[in-house]
Amino acid sequence: MRVHVIGNVCVDTTFRLDRFPAAGETLNASEHSDGLGGKGANQAVAAARTGADVRFRAAIGNDAAGAWIRDQLSRDLDVRHLTTLPLPSDRSTIMVDARGENFIVTGASCAAAFDPLADSGLVRSIESSDIMVMQGNLHPDATTACLRAARAAGALTIFNPSPLAAGYAPPLSAVSHVVANAGEAAQLTGASDPAAAAHELIRQGASAAIITLGARGCLVADSKGPIEQIAAPKVAVVDTSGAGDVFCGCLAGCLAAGIDLAAGARIAVRAASISVGRTGTLESCPDGHEMKMLMA
Ligand code: ADP
Repeated sequence: MRVHVIGNVCVDTTFRLDRFPAAGETLNASEHSDGLGGKGANQAVAAARTGADVRFRAAIGNDAAGAWIRDQLSRDLDVRHLTTLPLPSDRSTIMVDARGENFIVTGASCAAAFDPLADSGLVRSIESSDIMVMQGNLHPDATTACLRAARAAGALTIFNPSPLAAGYAPPLSAVSHVVANAGEAAQLTGASDPAAAAHELIRQGASAAIITLGARGCLVADSKGPIEQIAAPKVAVVDTSGAGDVFCGCLAGCLAAGIDLAAGARIAVRAASISVGRTGTLESCPDGHEMKMLMA
């Protein structure tokens, strides 16, 4: 099974500071670094590290940052499906203070303008045995259209509603598996109890709902059986950024490998829990060898 991940990619520039600047103030950071980011890229890389055949479709700009993104992604993925737009590549500036608090500013011209279906090859390339994974960074109309096109082609669709645009109602009848954290699930359904939210997502048309619960792991619900609760291993938390993306990409990779949903969710919980014990977003994702061990 092939995994199509459709979403965004950006350069995350992180500045570490003792404290945040006040308005008009300039501070020197104690450290700064560039990393690959964007929920689409994070999930595509996590899926690729499970050994899945991943096609990642996202837009980059026609600038040096775009070339850098392509080079970084090529370590894990086939980058032939990236689209170059006449725009600046997407970027986030992340300021982290000594307490670990952060401020993030994102410029997402490429994600906002990217229309995956403008490439007629996308629909032609989706087969009924494929999996499509989408998140909330593209324009809502593009997300809806892609999910519907993939479902119409008979593919399994995974939708991670993060970030959830205000007022966006995803086409749940075109979603096989919703993967959401507890906050997003509550926002989508109005139900603050994750089990009730999962049932509501299924009532609205999804075939299954997987709600991640941070340190408490996740729950998995489908229309066939009782809800399965999967506990997370206890870890000393270092950095939780990207944990949901590791979960989602790893789950997609497991399903592509023919692993069933509950077993895939157990593996995804363990992979995401490993990532919270390490620094960074993509840097903390288990590598191919670790994924293999988790899936064995
Ligand atoms: P998101 O990062 O999208 O908000 P969650 O916080 O629910 O999503 O975390 C996703 C997954 O990451 C969880 O299902 C779990 O496997 C792992 N995880 C997150 N926080 C912790 C933690 N404190 N301890 C262990 N695992 C964690």
